[in-house]
Amino acid sequence: MQIQDKRVVSLSYTLKDDKDQIIDQSTDGSFSYLHGASNIIPGLENSLTGKRAGDELSVHVNPEEGYGVRDEERIQEVPREMFPDDTQIEPGMQFYAQGPDGQNIVVQVAEVDEQTVTVDGNHPLAGVQLNFDVKILSVREATDEEMEHGHVHGPDGHHHSD
Ligand code: ZN
Repeated sequence: MQIQDKRVVSLSYTLKDDKDQIIDQSTDGSFSYLHGASNIIPGLENSLTGKRAGDELSVHVNPEEGYGVRDEERIQEVPREMFPDDTQIEPGMQFYAQGPDGQNIVVQVAEVDEQTVTVDGNHPLAGVQLNFDVKILSVREATDEEMEHGHVHGPDGHHHSD
């Protein structure tokens, strides 16, 4: 069965940057997603269309087709007093903030001095060249419920309590 829209794909992957450092890899051996539902970044999803179980491929994804390019406007200086006094603020800390459209975004602390905290609202992988090594493990039709929810259910996917 080929990978196309409305099918559930299980795969294993390793993700490296251009310096050959592993950024991420599938945990527990596999990762499942619903094809055609923007569950994964477009550059990877497009490359998988038409592939089959057993296929192995290496996919290079540019930031534009990945997590976006870095946007300097998302780097902001915030007065230190905006943060609780009893919290040690350190570079690398991540927390949720409100984005321009009211959505929750993850921002990361880039720099701290006595007066200001510099936070970066770019995705940690924004601007990064992505190199995936992917092995496709299985392909199946999505269930009606999965199509309705726009994501995978079942033993390899996400579970609902309801
Ligand atoms: Zn669901």
